[in-house]
Amino acid sequence: MNPKQAKHLFFVLGAAGFVCILLVVVHPLFLAAGLLMAAAAIVLNLMFYRCPCCRAHLGRTSGNHCPHCGHFVEH
Ligand SMILES: [Zn+2]
Repeated sequence: MNPKQAKHLFFVLGAAGFVCILLVVVHPLFLAAGLLMAAAAIVLNLMFYRCPCCRAHLGRTSGNHCPHCGHFVEH
């Protein structure tokens, strides 16, 4: 998985988790499902949203370069 895919997955899972948490008014189990999705989004982000060169986490970088080693990273 490249950083671009990891970022995309993070937003999709995060949004799905958020919607699930809102659905708690329908059924209490949605809260657990939503929290699980949000946790999975964070774990996947920490694992895969990294520079392919130095493996540093890309954090809130907005440019296309790793803030640690300057390697070009499309994300
Ligand atoms: Zn780097």
